[in-house]
Amino acid sequence: MPADVASLLHSVFGFPGFRPGQAEIVQAVLAGRNTLAIMPTGGGKSLCFQLPALCREGVTVVISPLIALMRDQVRGLREAGVEAGALTSGNTDEETEQVFTALDEGRLKLLYMAPERLASGATLPMLRRIGCSLIAVDEAHCVSQWGHDFRPDYLRIGDLRRALGVPVAAFTATADEETRAEIVTRLFDGQPPDTFLRGFDRPNIHLAFAVKDKPREQILGFAAARRGQSGIVYCATRAKTETLAAALRAEGHATAFYHGGMGAEDRRRVEIRFQQEDGLIVVATIAFGMGIDKPDIRWVAHADLPKSVEAYYQEIGRAGRDGAPAETLTLYGPDDIRLRRAQIDEGTAPPDRKEADHARLNALLGLAEATACRRQVLLGYFGEASGPCGTCDLCEHPAALFDATDAVRKALSAILRTGEWFGAGHLIDILTGNATAKVREKGHDALPTFGVGKELSKPAWGAVFRQIMGRDLVRPDGERFGALRMTEAARPILRGEASITLRSDTVEKAQPRYAVKT
Ligand code: ADP
Ligand code: ZN
Repeated sequence: MPADVASLLHSVFGFPGFRPGQAEIVQAVLAGRNTLAIMPTGGGKSLCFQLPALCREGVTVVISPLIALMRDQVRGLREAGVEAGALTSGNTDEETEQVFTALDEGRLKLLYMAPERLASGATLPMLRRIGCSLIAVDEAHCVSQWGHDFRPDYLRIGDLRRALGVPVAAFTATADEETRAEIVTRLFDGQPPDTFLRGFDRPNIHLAFAVKDKPREQILGFAAARRGQSGIVYCATRAKTETLAAALRAEGHATAFYHGGMGAEDRRRVEIRFQQEDGLIVVATIAFGMGIDKPDIRWVAHADLPKSVEAYYQEIGRAGRDGAPAETLTLYGPDDIRLRRAQIDEGTAPPDRKEADHARLNALLGLAEATACRRQVLLGYFGEASGPCGTCDLCEHPAALFDATDAVRKALSAILRTGEWFGAGHLIDILTGNATAKVREKGHDALPTFGVGKELSKPAWGAVFRQIMGRDLVRPDGERFGALRMTEAARPILRGEASITLRSDTVEKAQPRYAVKT
């Protein structure tokens, strides 16, 4: 993937990386090959033609059957600073005028068009004139006469492709074989295009998350149970890769560390060693991975929470490429959540991008603290529906849940009564009635919330706070040194209009005798 393409992914679309399958499709479309990509709904098809459209000469024409969808995409692209327009029956004359002006001035990169427009004799000369260099077909199954969504005008796309002599990139979520065959016949004259059909599931990879307890021992224990196997430990910082590598080496594991602060030659040496040696553990930052092509990596552990669900999937996906069983473990704790939230808040992105980054982090935390099959949550995030896998940590050991409405309301009330000025540690002191010097100095031992949460231990309250941070009911405020603020989403719970269920296993682990309410 050329570096400028990856940087557009970030700068224009604001995505940290590709979703599963996207990179291969983007590459094929960029190279000007005819392509057919079958991806589940929500899998991220639009990026696969939008990104190449920005990188290629000329205009990409997008045929799409839904006016609302086209308008949404055009709006999104414009907001991201991309020149895009749509010609649909829903346009005002003024909008159509603007599109043609932009086309005449050679500004437009993407032109969305309803299929009906292909029936007009004026369309082909127009597309020639504006320099159409790629046709993207959204919902390509609409070309199938046997399907529910048949759109007769889709049958004209094949002619258009021949007349313009440009590649076609076709996308659909419908994976059945007949539909695919019909798309190939009607859009590509029966010449099979580069076809991408891949579910996201990697069933041989075992998924597990654990709350950081004694994180170093947790990683050492995981590695000890897999002695002699090749594995990767991902850490959030360079310093940590070195200390953790030393700890693993002290336990007798063949271990190397790897991060972006090392010289190119040292890094290369570790890559080669990992490739050639059996049973080496590499402790690395995310700098390690792009070039690795080792089929028999047996395990991947995250010593810290990854950046996003996409990053998580990509990083664990390095394990078990040979299809044999592989195992993963991801550790996370309240500090990870605080760090990631602060990184987002203190970044330079515009406010709505920050909102989106928080939402993405929420998705990852939702995966970390999933209440049922983890694989289902992961695949669901990528738009793929599935049943419980039966083999992930949560299928093997179902999470116990409890009604945490009461506890959460107490926590929220402690936050509000102290002016949203304090972090979890101080709030927990208030809730558990721990009259520390700071509590007394602030007069918080006189608050009505003082001591109302004695039924939970400090660590149990820690688990509650971590989960409500994960659900984005409270958020550390970067400008107030991580003081917790309540978000809008928490209001219904505070007002008694909504209840909330949390996982009690992590609470129980923090406080074994805590009786779960049923
Ligand atoms: P589809 O057309 O396949 O149903 P979309 O193209 O609308 O899916 O994408 C679904 C969602 O996934 C959108 O919200 C989009 O912003 C998001 N998305 C797409 N690609 C990525 C990526 N590489 N990283 C993060 N989010 C992505
Ligand atoms: Zn499962």
